[in-house]
Formats: sequence, structure tokens, C-alpha cells
Amino acid sequence: MDQNNVEFLYEKIDELASTIEHHNDKTYLEAVVDAMDILFHQQPFEDSEELLHQNVEKLLSEVDLAQYKKEETRKAIQLVILKGMKDATQQQHLITPDAVAMFMGYLTSKLFENQEELTMFDPACGSANLLTSVMNQLSHNVKAYGSDVDETLIRLALANANLQKNEIEFFHQDSLGAFLMEPVDFVVADLPVGYYPDDLQASQYELAAEEGHSYSHHLFIEQGLTYTKAGGYLMFMVPNFLFDSDQSKQLNAYLREHAHIVGMLQLPKSLFKQEKHAKSILILQKKGENTKTPQQALLATLPSFKNHNAMADVLAQINQWFDQHHK
Ligand code: SAM
Repeated sequence: MDQNNVEFLYEKIDELASTIEHHNDKTYLEAVVDAMDILFHQQPFEDSEELLHQNVEKLLSEVDLAQYKKEETRKAIQLVILKGMKDATQQQHLITPDAVAMFMGYLTSKLFENQEELTMFDPACGSANLLTSVMNQLSHNVKAYGSDVDETLIRLALANANLQKNEIEFFHQDSLGAFLMEPVDFVVADLPVGYYPDDLQASQYELAAEEGHSYSHHLFIEQGLTYTKAGGYLMFMVPNFLFDSDQSKQLNAYLREHAHIVGMLQLPKSLFKQEKHAKSILILQKKGENTKTPQQALLATLPSFKNHNAMADVLAQINQWFDQHHK
């Protein structure tokens, strides 16, 4: 991957988005979606005013998308999105950090090493950074689905997938409602954390709170299991306090019945602005006729991703775990 390509593409999308933002009454992030759509279709929107039209034409002539690798495009888009989300106040709407998305992609490639085809689903896909990062690391023939309730984010996800030439079927809906989709081999998500406001919808779930609002992240885990094939896997970014809350007894009992806990990897605290937002990667397998709990779960606390030596040691341990317990 060429970092100069990433920076050049970032600058061009940023320039185009800023131009659109200033000519129209839009937020930067909405302008980013328009900029990406324009780049994908290689022509300015028909109704744009003359000056904007000229600026867009000039920028389009400077960018030849065909010359960029998928990962260069993804990284450039990720930088533009990060700029747009810099002032976001809602922690749970943030894009999945790149290092984590890439690490989850690596774990996914190890989980499905012996398979050539893969169906996967991210029910909280946001900008699709996590989903496309995982896809880009797989050599499988992948059929992917993504869903998000937020309109700007799902538009962003679609434009992101288009520019990376990744084929993904998107749903714009509340992911705790029903889907017209067959269960998949793999569910992956950076879960929204907090209370889910729709008590009526929540009441359909085994993990609904006995009183008051239910936890969105618990319901997402149950929904994920519903849309996973028997024997399939799930990988979630979850809060560190997942198994240590007022409703975790229910969650534990539910997971014991429906899934095997394959692993739990604690992410470096330095990745998160506040310790209470620190997260782990939880790996589950949906129970099936021929599945069993691994003799030993994959448990680790990850060092800072910048500490290359420590990271190499942990990766060696992870690889060893896969060799011994995941054949
Ligand atoms: N992985 C994403 C990425 O790389 O951009 C970020 C995911 S973000 C942490 C969680 C996402 O869950 C947000 O995009 C939010 O809009 C979405 N979300 C929250 N509640 C939802 C619901 N009930 N149905 C669908 N999406 C929901």
C-alpha cells in the first residue's frame, strides 16, 4: 500500500467535500457522501451551480480511481470520515478504529481459513469501515450484507463500498427488526452500546430487560445469533463491562444455551478517550450439532498496536491457539 496514494486521495475527497459543503447548506459528512457519489459516477450532479460544476470537473480530472488499491481507497475514505466525525458527541456513532478493524480482519481470516466461500453480515455497519476492512483481508468468495439505522451513515457505507468496488447489500433499517435474509456464516459488528429506546420491539427478545429499557448491545448479540447459521461465528466489539453489569446474569445464561465462547481479547486502553469506553473483541460460535466449546478459550490483553515487538508476541500466541484449538 502506498501512503502517498492514500494522502492524495484523502486530499482530493476532502477538497471536493469542502467545496460542496460551502456551496450547499450541508454538513461536512453529508458533503463527503456527495463527493464520493460524484467520484464514483465520474460526473457532477446535474443541478449544481456553474462555479461548483467547474470545480468538480477540475477535481474529477485529477483523480483516476482505477489506479488505487481497495485498501488505499478505504484508508483515504476513513481519514475523511474521521475528519467529519471529529466533533461528534455521540461516542457510539464513531467509526471503528482502523487498527481494530484490521485486527478483526486478521482474526476473521484465521477463523475461516478452511473455507472458500463466506456469507457475512454487519448489523451495525455505520460507514462500513469495519465491514470493508474485514472483506479486504479475505481471499474468500464473499457475499456481504450491512445494516444501519442512520441515513447519512448508510449512504456513506454504500458510497464507501462502491469506491472500493466491494459488493455489499445494504439495509437501511432498525437492525433489531426482522430481515429478509438467510442466516450467514459470520456476523461481525462494533456494537452500539447503551439503552435501546423501543421497549415493544425489545419485548420480542429473550434478552429484554425485566424492567425499563433493554441494553442495545445485548439485543444485538441475540439478533446476531438469530441471523447466524448453526456452527457459524460471530465477532463483536463489546464494552469491557459486558459481563459485569446489572443484566449480565441474563446474558451469561443466554450465551451458555445458544453459543460457545471462543475468545475475548481486550483492546489496548490507549485506543479509547475514556477508560469507561474501553472495549474488547468477543468471539462466539453459534451452537450446532457438531460444535463444542473449545478446550481453552482465546484470551489475551492486547498491547498498544504501536508496540510492534509486544504485538508480534501476542500474534504468535494467537496463531498457536488457532493451530491447537481451531482445526
Ligand atoms: N463499524 C462501524 C464503522 O466502521 O463505521 C461503526 C459502528 S458504530 C460503533 C455503531 C453503529 O450502530 C452506528 O452506526 C449506529 O448508527 C448503529 N446503530 C445503533 N442502533 C442501531 C439500530 N437499532 N439499528 C441499526 N443500527 C443501529
